[in-house]
Amino acid sequence: MSEAVVIDDAPQATPRVKVLLPMPVGNGYDYQVPDGLDLAPGDFVTVPLGPREVTGVVWPDPSDPSVPDAKLKAVVKRFDVPRLAPEMMSFVDWVAGYYMVSRGAVLRLVLRSSQGLEEVRARTGYRLADLPSGLRMTPQRAAVLGAASDQALTAKDLAERSGVTEGVVRGLADAGALSAMTFDPDPPFPAPQPDLPGRALAPSQDEAAGALRDLVLQGGGTMLLDGVTGSGKTEVYLEAVAAALRKDPSAQVLVLLPEIALTLPFLKRLEERFGAPPAHWHSDVSSAQRRRVWKRVLDGSCRLVVGARSALFLPWQNLSLVVVDEEHDAAYKQQDGILYHGRDMAVAMGARIGFPVVLASATPSLETVANVEAGRYGRVRLESRYGPAVLPDMAVLDMRKHAPPTNTWLAEPAAQAITETLKDGKQALLYLNRRGYAPVTICRRCGERMTAPDSDTWLVEHRYTGRLVCHQTGFSMPKPKICPHCGGEDTLAPCGPGVERVAEEARARWPDANVEVFSSDTVETPGAAKELLTRMASGEIDIMVATQAAAKGHNFPGLTLVVGVDADLGLAGGDLRAAERTYQVLSQVSGRAGRSVDAGRVILQSYQPDHRVNLALVSGDRDAFFGAELWSREEIGMPPFGRLAALILSGKDERKVTAEARALAQVIPQADGIEAWGPAPAPFYRLRGVFRQRFLVKATKRSNIQAFVADWLSSVKGTSAVRRVVDVDPYSFV
Ligand SMILES: [Zn+2]
Repeated sequence: MSEAVVIDDAPQATPRVKVLLPMPVGNGYDYQVPDGLDLAPGDFVTVPLGPREVTGVVWPDPSDPSVPDAKLKAVVKRFDVPRLAPEMMSFVDWVAGYYMVSRGAVLRLVLRSSQGLEEVRARTGYRLADLPSGLRMTPQRAAVLGAASDQALTAKDLAERSGVTEGVVRGLADAGALSAMTFDPDPPFPAPQPDLPGRALAPSQDEAAGALRDLVLQGGGTMLLDGVTGSGKTEVYLEAVAAALRKDPSAQVLVLLPEIALTLPFLKRLEERFGAPPAHWHSDVSSAQRRRVWKRVLDGSCRLVVGARSALFLPWQNLSLVVVDEEHDAAYKQQDGILYHGRDMAVAMGARIGFPVVLASATPSLETVANVEAGRYGRVRLESRYGPAVLPDMAVLDMRKHAPPTNTWLAEPAAQAITETLKDGKQALLYLNRRGYAPVTICRRCGERMTAPDSDTWLVEHRYTGRLVCHQTGFSMPKPKICPHCGGEDTLAPCGPGVERVAEEARARWPDANVEVFSSDTVETPGAAKELLTRMASGEIDIMVATQAAAKGHNFPGLTLVVGVDADLGLAGGDLRAAERTYQVLSQVSGRAGRSVDAGRVILQSYQPDHRVNLALVSGDRDAFFGAELWSREEIGMPPFGRLAALILSGKDERKVTAEARALAQVIPQADGIEAWGPAPAPFYRLRGVFRQRFLVKATKRSNIQAFVADWLSSVKGTSAVRRVVDVDPYSFV
């Protein structure tokens, strides 16, 4: 290290350190270490930056001798908290290199809740004491005593809860009826107890849990927990969590889930298993809660966190196991800022730091399956459904033979099945991954498609709100009475089905049934979603028309029929993962049917009944589907057999974007095993007035795609008019 180096007979050098700041700059800055301050890498410090003061981290980089001592500013202060672990610092460096972003930008993910650094003053609270004799009672005092308990509450909280002023609370404390005490507003989390008995495991679960415990004891490696929907994967991986907590009293464990699956029942389940509520971390958590989790992860006292992908960047001291549940879920890929993939980063972190990673799924991603087949990951399978439930009976309905009448979407055999289901007092789920009423609005007179004013996206009609909405940009407008193109009156017609339109059809056909729509438009808050799911679970709803939002994690005992209204929808478009994703969603949705005692039935309406996705779903032969899909990707060298990176150029000045794209196209470097295609206008070329051109780089597994892209970009000087974004391992191609 270069800091605090004193050379004997030379003039005394000013001790200096390198501090990395949470902003998009790749390297830290040198700062002078003031007398009496002892600094080491990992220390959280405040430093001056221009007119401001910024919190950063002392980084283990050599300082820059070309900056003269006289120009150095001094570190303002060091926070009295544990240091950021060396493993986390090296992980930040690695993530920055992999995703081609600055190290400061990655550090910003780590420092997201750095209010946890600030010392929060202990607060004074009041709790019930023995009632002194002769206490003068008033209705206000009685209200406070009614609201107080053994748990200390601040005077403000207590006053609010009993509808009095804080003076009444203080008066009671002075009289001795309440006792004052100080408490920590960020108390440590209660320790999870791994030795509590878990739920009873079936023999197959027990065997799988044993394999995961071995992985934990072995202390490294990645394993796929591969089990059909309803096979009880959670109980199994919780045994791995217990083993990690037991093995090392300071071990920390992270369970990652897609944001939408982080539900209260899931948290309750963990609380039940470990006798203490786990810390949770996602976008809906209050900033005070985040501060507490961040602080307690840093000081090592928080040992179990359940969180969305960004929880990977908490300041871990001793991360010893990560479980990635629903590992196939596309929600693990961050779609703005740093475009990282949560699952991939968990695996990379495990390999670099040396801890085991468990990936759980009923429909694993092809990436993971390929890694299993190549022997890089282990696999444990859970074949049978836990308990009485059996897999649903699946059928593809050939829509070429059973086309429904114009402007209706349910074929006769599917409608009959719904009628039978309702007659039996059971529930049906109609799945269509299209929000709103109709995906396209067309003028019957001039054929004009309604688009957003500054984008090339189609407007989707929403009947609930009476508006046309752009799902890419959020733009919306009232549905016009007059065609803006030809002036025709009432000529704008909906085209194609959305969930609202299918619900309309269902209401008309089964007027006595209770029909509800579940999509991100109808359930805008977690509370609204919970209410709808509770009503579905209790059997109050007869027919639920739902998008992908309802595909995961819920158990509806009365649901025995799932109809895939348009099973072909996900197969259209040039997306590399279209077939894989469709397969995953349809098998998840199908997994909803018959989770309880009754056998379920699934009908997939399709115009391509012979497509390999449909054949695989019906046969239940998942491995055959994966085999065929892997083979076709290997043929063309696509992931998981090759690597991709996308380069997106965007700007408001179309001419400048095109010019820079052309300039880059002319200097594509020559490299073995790497090709670059483009530029091509992005599928939504114009979005909110911004024009976008894309390049796609394809490389073999062994080539250094990052070095290639960096070299290429450095040969054309960028301008502020054109934004360049590199998406390593892209999931979105729009
Ligand atoms: Zn028109």
